[in-house]
Amino acid sequence: MISNEVRTQCAKCGTWVEIGDASMVGPHGDRQPYCPDCRPTPPDRAEHDGWHRRPLASLDFETTGVDPREDRVVSYGLLGDQGGELVGFINPGIPIPALASDVHGISDAMVHDAQPAADGIAIVVDWVQSVIDRGVGLVVFNAPYDLTMLRAEAERWGVHQPDWDRLLVVDPFVIDWGIERGRLGQRKLTNVCDYYGVAIDNAHDATCDARAARDVAYEMGMRHADIGTGTLAGLAQRQREWYALRVADWNAYATDSDRQPEDPHGWPMGRV
Ligand SMILES: [Zn+2]
Repeated sequence: MISNEVRTQCAKCGTWVEIGDASMVGPHGDRQPYCPDCRPTPPDRAEHDGWHRRPLASLDFETTGVDPREDRVVSYGLLGDQGGELVGFINPGIPIPALASDVHGISDAMVHDAQPAADGIAIVVDWVQSVIDRGVGLVVFNAPYDLTMLRAEAERWGVHQPDWDRLLVVDPFVIDWGIERGRLGQRKLTNVCDYYGVAIDNAHDATCDARAARDVAYEMGMRHADIGTGTLAGLAQRQREWYALRVADWNAYATDSDRQPEDPHGWPMGRV
C-alpha cells in the first residue's frame, strides 16, 4: 500500500503515526491515513469448498511496453497446475525500450541469443492449450493485458490461436475490483499481495509475479465465500460483469479528462 509522506493522525483512531508507518487508503484524490492497527484487512480464511481448493495454472509475461497490441513478450513464466514450470526468454525482434528494461531488468543483451519470438510464442500457446484441454483455471493478473498481447503475438508470428472460448481465466485484479470497487485505492499486484499477506520476493520477474498472483487468487477464494463458492465458468461471467463496470467507471473519467476510453467487453482479452 502507499504510505504516508508526512507525520499524520490515523483516520480511524486518531493516533499519531510517523512518516512511512501509515497506509494511505482510498480512491485517488481521497486517500486517508490508517495506522497499522486500523488498516483494512481481508476477512479470515473459511472452510467452504470452491474452485480455490483445486489446482490452478498461472501465466505472466515481461514485455517491451504497455501496449498489448504493439508491444512484445520478452519473458514468460508459466506455472503448471501440477507443479511444473516453463520459464523462458524471447528475442522480441525489436529493441527493448530503456523504460521497460528499468522495470523488469531484461536488456537487449540478455535476449540476444534467446529463442526467436515465433518459437517462444508457440511454446506459450501450446501450454495454454494444454491448460484449456484439461479444464484447469488459468490465473492471469490483469488478463486483458497479457492475453491480448498473446493473441496479437500469435497472429504476428503465424502461430495458431488456442481455443480462447474454452479458457477459464481467474483474474485477481478484476476480482479485487469486484470485491472492493476501487475503495482501497491503488491495487497493483504488489498492493494486493500486501493486503492478502502474500509474499512477492522479486516483483517484475514473470515467474515470481505468476506465483504471487496465483497465491492471491487462492486467498481471495478462501477469504470470500461468495467468490470462492461456485464454478470457474460462473466466476468468469462475474469477472466479465465486474470488468464492464470498472471500464464504465474509467470511461466516465476518460471522457472528462481527454483519455482513451476502454472496451467494456475487453475481458479476458481485447480484439487484436
Ligand atoms: Zn488507528
